Amino acid sequence: MLVGLADVDQLDLAALGFSKTALAAKGRPPYHPADLLKLYLYGYLNRVRSSRRLEAECLRNVELMWLLNRLAPDHKTIANFRKEQGKGIQAVCRAFVQFCRQAKLISGALVAIDGSKFQAVASPSKAVSRKQLEQQQTQLDQRITRYLAELDQADQTEGDALDRQRVERALQQLRAMQDDVATRLLFLKDMGLYQHVVGEPEAQLMRDGQKRIVPAYNVQSAVDAQHKLIVHHEVVNEASDQKQLLPMATAAQAVLEQRPLTVVADAGYSNGEHLTACEDANITPYVALNRGVNNQGDGRLFDRSRFQYDAKKDGYRCPASQWLVRKQINRAERMVIYQGLACGACPLKSQCTQAERRLICRHFDEEAFVRTQARLASRPEIMRQRKAIVEHPFGNLKRWIMGDGRFLLRGLPGAQTESALVILSYNLRRVLNVLGAEQMRRLLMN
Ligand code: SF4
Repeated sequence: MLVGLADVDQLDLAALGFSKTALAAKGRPPYHPADLLKLYLYGYLNRVRSSRRLEAECLRNVELMWLLNRLAPDHKTIANFRKEQGKGIQAVCRAFVQFCRQAKLISGALVAIDGSKFQAVASPSKAVSRKQLEQQQTQLDQRITRYLAELDQADQTEGDALDRQRVERALQQLRAMQDDVATRLLFLKDMGLYQHVVGEPEAQLMRDGQKRIVPAYNVQSAVDAQHKLIVHHEVVNEASDQKQLLPMATAAQAVLEQRPLTVVADAGYSNGEHLTACEDANITPYVALNRGVNNQGDGRLFDRSRFQYDAKKDGYRCPASQWLVRKQINRAERMVIYQGLACGACPLKSQCTQAERRLICRHFDEEAFVRTQARLASRPEIMRQRKAIVEHPFGNLKRWIMGDGRFLLRGLPGAQTESALVILSYNLRRVLNVLGAEQMRRLLMN
């Protein structure tokens, strides 16, 4: 591994966007970015990510002494490099993928797309959402009303059982809390936000791998099936993967410079608009579909597959050979709703619907859903394959590199830099395992 890391010196870091690659004529020479990049890669490969710990390792770790020629930067220099050279680090990550392509370690035959949540630099207690604040407002209103009722009752009975001063103090506190909650709610509404994480405004509350709701970023990855190398990644601050299929698939297509591309993803990526757009872009998507089911009547009512669509008539033929016709268009949900014409007198009605008429929704991209379903049926093993492809990198990234699965750098740019370091470390280790350090060095020299 050390031999592989030493090859960082072969990279043209200036071309990759790093600053301080050339020495100034005067003044104390800065550390060369290649040395600091080697230090970080060594650290990430050995689960040492903090700048203070890296500083200590430089002074006592023999491997690092060899790798850095006994250089021992202080923790501020180390931390500043990671903060300031994000673009360069991301460019090295991309350049390494291109090296892997040239070394024929990426076949591009199948790319699996998946996302994983990594906690941002903020505790869940720093997050507020409109919903939480509205709940707090209701609870405070109820408590204030209760205290006021107690005071009223005491006035009416003229009893001295109530400690009036204590109640008034409590009321004062509750009203101050009420003002604070109202101000924070107003701030969210004015900013058009539904949630806000203090200190990490770009992070969003998301459910992580341990099912905890935490401020986090969603790291999207496209993984090549051949050696499970990550060919492209993005850090997004949307908890849902639903809008990620097209951007990830087209980005992977661009990285691989490969027009026909096959991608596979789980049901979180089920999105008719994206399936259609992928097909238009010469990408074949295998995506588990996440479609509504008719669960009225314990799911024992006729499934929508029993209804045949007729494009000429633009209607559905039902199991009783009657027609369902267009009722309305729901543009927000991108669907057309069809309703039965003869349900009132139908002998099969009890097996079909509990409503007055049976309704069927047809998505604007229904045909893309149907084609995707047929594709999945033709390759039933592909979803198992998907799991095997993406579990390897994510398991490694979370447990082996990130340790606690948290970012150390604040903000979306910080998360992007750290993701690039983590993914570069992962890819580097994979390549060293597949090729060995000597072979990798030979290929880098070519
Ligand atoms: S209830 Fe309506 S839609 Fe269902 S089978 Fe009867 S006629 Fe067809």
